[in-house]
Amino acid sequence: MPMICRLIGHRRNRKRVWHDGLNYRSRCARCELPMLRQGGGWALFDPAVHDDDRRSTRDVDS
Ligand SMILES: [Zn+2]
Repeated sequence: MPMICRLIGHRRNRKRVWHDGLNYRSRCARCELPMLRQGGGWALFDPAVHDDDRRSTRDVDS
């Protein structure tokens, strides 16, 4: 993970935002980690917390 992500947080890639059925999703523009929009802000997507059968499995990489 780039040092800048540790310092100021991840930055979602605005051009790669998509909706998985529950939340908007993207990836960090710097380190490519998956992110989701929740409560008005962006957080890292954590499968242990956010995994849900209702989500589309489509990703911007496919
Ligand atoms: Zn990052």
